[in-house]
Amino acid sequence: MDAIDILRKLKDKGVRFTPQRQAILEFLLATESHPTAEEIYQHVKAKFPGVSLGTIYNTLNMLKEHGHILELSYGDMSSRFDGNPDNHYHIVCSKCGRVVDFHRPLLEVDQEAEEISGFRIIGHRMEFYGLCPECRQGEMN
Ligand code: ZN
Ligand code: MN
Repeated sequence: MDAIDILRKLKDKGVRFTPQRQAILEFLLATESHPTAEEIYQHVKAKFPGVSLGTIYNTLNMLKEHGHILELSYGDMSSRFDGNPDNHYHIVCSKCGRVVDFHRPLLEVDQEAEEISGFRIIGHRMEFYGLCPECRQGEMN
């Protein structure tokens, strides 16, 4: 589904379709960089100088609530946003903060976690930490 299909579907549910929202979603679907809200704002502002950071946050929350994007939260650090809403794993650079996808079949551990904890498990998240190739390069000097 492209941005317009997603926004048309949302419009049927009563969500307002705006060119700014289209630009936000198009950017997220096109990038693999897992941008922060601030980075999305800077990108969209180049085309729509009147857009506010509030509009960016509202749109991201709305898209997340409807299951079209993922928010990767990192405690006190800025969340990053992912235009691929299907669960997948990530590798995070501890030095520069870069986040890349790590595609592999999902571990089938939810059932085990449910049995051990008594929680009703709705999903799991897995991330690897380390130094990205560029940051490794810097370490070798
Ligand atoms: Zn790095
Ligand atoms: Mn991702």
